[in-house]
Amino acid sequence: MSELRYDNQVVVITGAGAGLGRAYALFFASRGAKVVVNDLGGSGKGEGNDTKPADAVVSEIRSAGGVAVADHHSVTSGDLIIETAIKNFGRIDVLINNAGILRDVSFRNMAQRDWDLIMEVHVKGAYKCTRAAWPYFRKQKYGRVINTSSASGLFGNFGQTNYAAAKFALVGFTETVALEGKKYNIQANVLAPGAGSRLTATVMTPEVLAAMSPVYVVPLVAVLVHSSNTETGSIFEAAAGTFSKIRWERSKGALFRPDDSFTAGAVVRMWEEIGDFEKEKPEHPSGSADMIAKLEEAKKAPR
Ligand code: NAD
Repeated sequence: MSELRYDNQVVVITGAGAGLGRAYALFFASRGAKVVVNDLGGSGKGEGNDTKPADAVVSEIRSAGGVAVADHHSVTSGDLIIETAIKNFGRIDVLINNAGILRDVSFRNMAQRDWDLIMEVHVKGAYKCTRAAWPYFRKQKYGRVINTSSASGLFGNFGQTNYAAAKFALVGFTETVALEGKKYNIQANVLAPGAGSRLTATVMTPEVLAAMSPVYVVPLVAVLVHSSNTETGSIFEAAAGTFSKIRWERSKGALFRPDDSFTAGAVVRMWEEIGDFEKEKPEHPSGSADMIAKLEEAKKAPR
């Protein structure tokens, strides 16, 4: 198979001064794309700023013969980041919302700032960048978006109520922009990555860190944002060479007639059926409409 290329495309990557974002930036530049390397350059907890991380990645790309510009805005000013792409390259084809910070603390001890800053960077940041890119995507009938979630968002993780909530918000956001973007050939997918980086350095052993190079996540992103991709509104995990897809599963459940026989006691009696994934074949819902279709079935349910 020939290598995937991105010639004449403009790729904007947020938080590309380090970790996963840097790996994406180097890859796309090496495959012909013009890259906007955005990074605020603050601490892992989101304090301060520094132009060096983004500038260093741009120098690395340019010395390898690639094309890139640095952008030092926070993702909360996503419109200015997209403006950097338009001013320098006249278009935007791919947006990888990747910038991220952590402010881990038990829920009991969480300060308002821990909650707000995480929501600002992850949720508002992805929203602002995508919102600013949207008119360009629609006009040219082409756009590719990756939103970066996390296993913490999908499954929860101790000490990360703020981060998990933000990362799960990005799932609903992506599923919905994927629906709204479909007729304009705008695709959006969720990535829950795993990689050794500043964010994970304190929780992973040196051996695990070494085995989980950010470079191992790149191929999946490369496929998802390529013009040949047809996948949209999906959730993927990628780490250390493992790529997989996540989907929703709903138990067949119990049907109750929507009348006065529909009591809490009836729910208790059917508890096993409600939570059963083995005896009856589960469903894999992909939208809200099929739940409404169940109403008709429920009307005929035995009392
Ligand atoms: P990293 O710290 O190496 O890189 C994140 C980059 O984002 C940093 O360079 C940082 O300066 C930048 N950034 C932070 N706030 C910003 C802002 N407001 N505006 C612009 N840039 C900003 O971390 P990483 O591990 O490469 O993480 C990348 C993304 O992947 C994050 O969204 C993170 O939550 C997510 N993630 C990572 C892992 C993992 O195992 N590394 C797991 C799950 C999710």
